[in-house]
Amino acid sequence: MKRIYFQAGPTTLPKEVMEQAKEEWDDFQGTGLNIMEHSHRGKHYEDIHEQAKSRMRLLLDIPDTHDVLFLQGGASLQFAMIPMNLISQGKTAKYVLTGSWSEKAFKEAKRIGSSEAVITGKDSEYRTLPKMDYVPSDSDAYLHITSNNTIYGTQWQDLNTFTHPTLIADMSSDIMSKPFSVSNYALIYAGAQKNLGPSGVTAIIIRKDLLQDHENVPSILSYAVHAKNKSLYNTPPVYSIYLLNLVLDWVDRSGGVAEMEVRNKKKADVIYNAIDRSNGFYNGYATPESRSLMNVTFTLGNSDLEKQFIKESEENGIYGLKGHRSVGGFRASIYNAVPQESCESLAEFMDHFQEKYGK
Ligand SMILES: *Cc1c(COP(=O)(O)O)cnc(C)c1O
Repeated sequence: MKRIYFQAGPTTLPKEVMEQAKEEWDDFQGTGLNIMEHSHRGKHYEDIHEQAKSRMRLLLDIPDTHDVLFLQGGASLQFAMIPMNLISQGKTAKYVLTGSWSEKAFKEAKRIGSSEAVITGKDSEYRTLPKMDYVPSDSDAYLHITSNNTIYGTQWQDLNTFTHPTLIADMSSDIMSKPFSVSNYALIYAGAQKNLGPSGVTAIIIRKDLLQDHENVPSILSYAVHAKNKSLYNTPPVYSIYLLNLVLDWVDRSGGVAEMEVRNKKKADVIYNAIDRSNGFYNGYATPESRSLMNVTFTLGNSDLEKQFIKESEENGIYGLKGHRSVGGFRASIYNAVPQESCESLAEFMDHFQEKYGK
């Protein structure tokens, strides 16, 4: 039976990528070694390292004003590195709270320096995105947003509308899913394991004026040190970056980020339509105007059926639908690598399940 997966992350990689990785497993380009057995200072790996950066640049149209870094520690390390590097004397970091990840980012900033939450969507149980009416102040170190709220299934619909001179975004769960203007942002970061590749590497796009070294920040946590060393300050996660590079190649060959958006909209529509035509048998968690194209969250009108829904979905070869423990219900994560057919199979299953139990 065909297996279909909708996990929130780590999650499935494009099939073509897995096939190429398999092909090169014990003989990378005639070297008789896997790429992870090569030195990170050798030519074979260096080519991949630079290729991954230039593919990021090409696909996201990153201007020369910004640098691309590959670091470890996940998006969670960025929660700490950002305030450590960017809150200076007399400045306050500002946070927009739209879910659990932005709460975590804010919590970490508070441990490090002066930080304040200026907008919150908590009143709506994070079902809807708050009005973004914050007016920048001279004393702001930066303004931090989360572009897609992986757990609640909400997403800022237009990433080009926010204006702040030092705008920072956690794009872990929607980078490369739709085009946006990088030049609006001072810093963008994304753990790779949702849309870019496997876990173990975080992509950072940082405006070069932010690359200032501070003597109170350890070298390993300094953006300036990593940029100066081209993300080779210490041994990088070689295999994760190798796979990330293959995923970027796949995005490029598939038609780029604009094509990803076209596909993602179609995919999300299929599942949201199944929710919306169900007359309350299924309920979307996010309000329609805040719905995410990456994480579709929903509950059952009759919550007694939740276990049955999971059981029967798995009997039909559909996995990874259990919602995050803080929201309950279900979540179908449909990142770039999830094909249209998987979404159609899920919608079909949802219809059948409703026919069976919705009387
Ligand atoms: C998954 C996720 C994180 C956490 O990433 P780690 O790599 O586990 O630290 C942070 N922010 C968002 C929006 C996420 O989806």
